[in-house]
Amino acid sequence: MSHVNLVTGGAGFLGSHLCEALLARGEEVLCLDNLFTGRKENIAHLLGDSNFELIRHDVTESIVLEANRIFNLACPASPVHYQHNPVKTIKTNVMGALNMLGLAKRVKARILQASTSEIYGDPAVHPQEESYWGNVNPIGPRSCYDEGKRVAETLFFDYYQQNQVDIRVIRIFNTYGPRMQVDDGRVVSNFVVQALRGNPITLYGDGNQTRSFCYYEDLIRGMMAMMDNDDFTGPVNLGNPDEFTIRELAEAVIRLTGSKSELVFKPLPENDPTRRKPNISLAKEKLNWEPGIKLEEGLKPTIAYFAKEIGL
Ligand code: NAD
Ligand code: UDP
Repeated sequence: MSHVNLVTGGAGFLGSHLCEALLARGEEVLCLDNLFTGRKENIAHLLGDSNFELIRHDVTESIVLEANRIFNLACPASPVHYQHNPVKTIKTNVMGALNMLGLAKRVKARILQASTSEIYGDPAVHPQEESYWGNVNPIGPRSCYDEGKRVAETLFFDYYQQNQVDIRVIRIFNTYGPRMQVDDGRVVSNFVVQALRGNPITLYGDGNQTRSFCYYEDLIRGMMAMMDNDDFTGPVNLGNPDEFTIRELAEAVIRLTGSKSELVFKPLPENDPTRRKPNISLAKEKLNWEPGIKLEEGLKPTIAYFAKEIGL
């Protein structure tokens, strides 16, 4: 069956790669985006495809559309951008989920939520598995995102139980790659751009906090496998379990760019999680999915992309 996919946040980093992958399967794509952190450049090459449409719209407003699969990705993902207007971030997460779930209910579409490892907060359990309820500050600077995403998960499961909506929930761990913006503010883009420009590399805190980085191709493959699965709602972790300190990431970026940049230390943002690594046993079991691209392998095309973006 050929699907009509609605991708909210479709002009963003992950959304644009997803649109491209769905079109490559010969499916139709309605890309809905308010272009807050997304860019027309990310999808410009898709505009000539008769299976592709761009809808400029904000998910906090309801919309009438027909689709049989909805990928709900709309939400700024970088702490810098989601903290810029916290009330708007909550609205996007909560009202966006309500509007898209209402649409899914009306048209009987399968709907996938792009949830996040942030729902685990600063985790007391390591590595994080889906059964862990998390350790989240409800009133801190990250709460608009973390709690917004948590409410969205609650809404998804309430619509599933109350209205039998066909839901899928994935919890994405730090994912990087080409089409992140130069000023995105997340760590991979910051370090690569700083190294390429020969500017100091900004380590927040002592740089000993950890993250586990997934290349976008692996993530998109997992997201599509989840949507294609007929009998598993999730939530399921999708991420690369190879864990690195932020200092190790900086060193890898310096090595691969051949940069002479120095490391400088900046204050650690409030509530910055100290460690993060997914347990992906469930994804392996239910989706037969695991990432295949190592950090250094994924950094190379990412570095090449940013070099071009900044005109090197
Ligand atoms: P991104 O910021 O590049 O993409 C988000 C997209 O959503 C942008 O195109 C933006 O313009 C759009 N958007 C934001 N608010 C909107 C609104 N109110 N209405 C319509 N569109 C809106 O980020 P990304 O990394 O591509 O993340 C995509 C999704 O995946 C997000 O929901 C994010 O929370 C989730 N996620 C990403 C990661 C990651 O590491 N990349 C990790 C966990 C979760
Ligand atoms: N970070 C850093 N320097 C930067 C940007 C981020 O040291 O220029 C750190 C940040 O404090 C966090 C980690 O890198 O510990 C990942 O940050 P990011 O904003 O990418 O995403 P998060 O996983 O915190 O949502």
